[in-house]
Amino acid sequence: MDITTSTWCEHKPVWLGRIAVSSCEDCAQIEWFSNNGPIDSSEAMAALFGSYDLVGPLDALGAPAPQVLAYAPPNGRKRRYLDALPKHVWLKAGPSLWMSHDGEMLLLATTQPMLFENLTRGA
Ligand SMILES: [Zn+2]
Repeated sequence: MDITTSTWCEHKPVWLGRIAVSSCEDCAQIEWFSNNGPIDSSEAMAALFGSYDLVGPLDALGAPAPQVLAYAPPNGRKRRYLDALPKHVWLKAGPSLWMSHDGEMLLLATTQPMLFENLTRGA
């Protein structure tokens, strides 16, 4: 349950409120932590991005899954959560879930549409 280490890169957690995010462009992975240790990706995503507004589906060009949804942050403070993650990179955020962003919008791609419903229901 340790932070994944690699000889090639450093996975450094960034704290966003009560959630810490460790993302790595090279490994295309994200790990989520709370004060109490690792937490479930869906729980962390809901805490950080649950208040984002669904903008709509996007053409999934280059995405790892056929279905991509774009979410817009409700305010500047929440938008800054995106800065903790590398831009224009698809990161594996959880089982069957990938995320990316362009600095303005959160992009989610999944092969399991139920994940979208869970995320937006938590808003
Ligand atoms: Zn790495």
